[in-house]
Order: sequence, then structure tokens, then C-alpha cells
Amino acid sequence: MSKVIQTCWILGLTLLLGCQQETPSKLSSVPQKDFISHQVIEWRLATSWPKNLPGLGMAPERFAQLVEQMSNGRLVITVYGAGELMPALSVFDGVSNGTIEMAHSASYYWKGKAPAAQFFSSIPFGLNAQQMNAWLHYGGGMELWEEVYQPFGVLPLAGGNTGMQMGGWFNKIIVSPEDFKGLKMRLPGLGGEVLKKLGGVPVDALAGRELYGALQTGAIDAAEWVGPYNDLSLGLHQVAKYYYYPGWHEPGSTMEFLINQQAFSTLPNDLKMIVKVAARAINQDMLDDYTQGHIAAMDVLLNEHNVQVKLFPNTVIRALKYARDDVLNSEAAKDPLFNKVLESYMANEKSVKRYFSYTEDALSRFELDDKNQP
Ligand code: CA
Repeated sequence: MSKVIQTCWILGLTLLLGCQQETPSKLSSVPQKDFISHQVIEWRLATSWPKNLPGLGMAPERFAQLVEQMSNGRLVITVYGAGELMPALSVFDGVSNGTIEMAHSASYYWKGKAPAAQFFSSIPFGLNAQQMNAWLHYGGGMELWEEVYQPFGVLPLAGGNTGMQMGGWFNKIIVSPEDFKGLKMRLPGLGGEVLKKLGGVPVDALAGRELYGALQTGAIDAAEWVGPYNDLSLGLHQVAKYYYYPGWHEPGSTMEFLINQQAFSTLPNDLKMIVKVAARAINQDMLDDYTQGHIAAMDVLLNEHNVQVKLFPNTVIRALKYARDDVLNSEAAKDPLFNKVLESYMANEKSVKRYFSYTEDALSRFELDDKNQP
């Protein structure tokens, strides 16, 4: 994103939000009166991604650049890739205990700490990117997310979206739900719990760089990572035969910026606003980057590597959907906060899917039907 475009984008966003008095967004909740201190504040941000990985790894770098430019150098954030300061999946603890001020990650990694966290990344058969952004910023989602992380002293902000993911890389053909029995698959979050219901063995402790070796040695039978943009860069097409779709488990995965609440509270008000507006800009910017990146990478996978792309049969999709409903109900019975977020999410999901059936989905169905006409 060019500097000029970045500046215009932010200006436009700020003006837009300033005009919407009836439905104030989270961005307008910061008090406006403050004096300008010229003290330089330095923060450290650790990510769960390989340094500079397309999309995921670039978003926190762009965020740090944006914050530095917008604050005229008063808030300087140094970004560390996975493993540089701490392991990929230790960043939540790092922010919580104040070792680092910020992290960039995905909320479903923290299901062991707070099962309800999973709703704020993506849940199987759930909301797509556009729908997630609507729920989070205007449908009550952000307030619930803050409530879930409050006990850990962590403030969340939406930090990007990969768009809908792919179903994953397999070395065996999936014909029926029975084929998931005993299948060892890298599949984190609630998707992994759904896999378990069908007799599969989810593996969620593998970071991106470990997937290639795990597939190559047969330590796992299948793996999902993100989609063409990232999967191509990890070379997963070299170690698996089939690329399945759709990504039922992650229809629109939101990433997150994690901020130590204590550190955030000490920022001057204008820097608090800059952090929030920059995160909101990067939240959209990453989706734009992924959309274009996925399209280009899929062209390469199909045209240069002759990857075999396969559609999960309807019987498989149906079994996965039923299993998802069972998983959500059993998780809700165990945890009141999970149940509280589920109620908000499902109320939204029902309405939004009905609305989309009149809009985007209706047009997609028509285009599909039209393509199949003789
Ligand atoms: Ca994924």
C-alpha cells in the first residue's frame, strides 16, 4: 500500500466514522482531549508467523509502519517473527504477562485458556470475512471479545482476515465421512473438534514451517494451513497430492492484535486512537492483500504445478455440518461464556445468511447454474 493511499484511506475512515453519530463504532470511544507529548515510546510486537510471510507476516509490519508514520515517530513498534523472541504459540502469554506489549496471532489458538476465544477467528460453517467484520464492529462481537480476554489483561483488536480458506492438503481421496476415521490432520480450533467427531485425529500444535516436514514424513496424513497465497509459499503442493475445497472449517478467519492492557492504558489518548485506527486499516488491508494473493497463487498451483483440486462430496460436507452443531452444543454446555458468545454469534449468523441468500449468494448460484447450461 503506498504512503499516499494509506494516508487517504485513514483520513477517509476517520471522517466516515466521525459522521456516524447514531451508531458509534469502537473507534470513537477514546476521549479526545489530550496534550501532545513528544516522548518516544518503544513497543515490541511478537507474531505467530514466520517473519515477512505473505499476508499474515506482512500485516504486523505494515501496522508498525503505519503507527510510526501516523504518530510522527512517537510510537515505534518493533516486529518479531515466530521464534525470534518466543515460540509462535506463546505470544498470548507474552502479552498477558507484559514481556511484550503486543502480538499478532489468531484467537482459536487460545481455546485451552478460553474456549469462547475461538469465535473471534473463525468457526466451522460460520461467517465469512465481510460478515465477521460486521458482527465484530457493529453487531456486539468486539465487546464480547474484550470480555473474554479481560481476565488475562489483554485487549484484542481485529487484525486482518485471510478470506475463506481451502479445505486442506490430503494424500488420500475423501469419498465418504468414513475416510476421516484415523486420519491425522493438522486442523486447529473447533474444526479439529469436528474432525474428532468423525473419528479423525486433529493436530493443532504445528506451526506453518513444520507442516512441510510433517506431511513429507507421514507424521500427519493431511494439513490445512491457509489457502493458495500461503500454502504455495510453504511448498505444500510438493508433499501432498490433493487440494480439497471448500474450507468448511474456516470460512473467513479474522486475525488479532493483542495489546497488554496496562501498556495501552499508559498511552496518550491520540496514540491510543492511532493504534486503533491503524489496526482497523490493516484489518481491511490484509483481506485485500489475501484476496488478490489467493487468486494469483491458485493460478500458479493450477497452471504451473498441475495441482489436483478436489471438491468434498456432499455427504462429507453434510456430516461435517452436523458434527459442528454437536460440537458447539457440547462446548456451550460446558462453559457459560462460550454459550454467551455462541448466542450472539448464532443470532447474527442466522440473519446474515438469510440476507446473503438474497444478495451475494443468489448471484453466485445464478452464475453457477448459467455456466452449466448447454
Ligand atoms: Ca487455517
